[in-house]
Amino acid sequence: MIMQRKRCSNFNHRRTNAPVRFCPLCGAVVNEAILMRECSAEKHAISRRGGNKYCVHCGEQLILARL
Ligand SMILES: [Zn+2]
Ligand SMILES: [Zn+2]
Repeated sequence: MIMQRKRCSNFNHRRTNAPVRFCPLCGAVVNEAILMRECSAEKHAISRRGGNKYCVHCGEQLILARL
């Protein structure tokens, strides 16, 4: 999946060995070596409260742009 987005400022992109699979800011894969995990809604709620736009484990969008 190729996503063209604005250059993401998240530190994970600059790391050769990011500790997470997905970037919490743009949802791009930053480390393919890390396996995708199944998350619970609870985990997503905690992650969302931490200010993450995307889940770092499964890449799901946590904060939806709704009107
Ligand atoms: Zn990013
Ligand atoms: Zn998740």
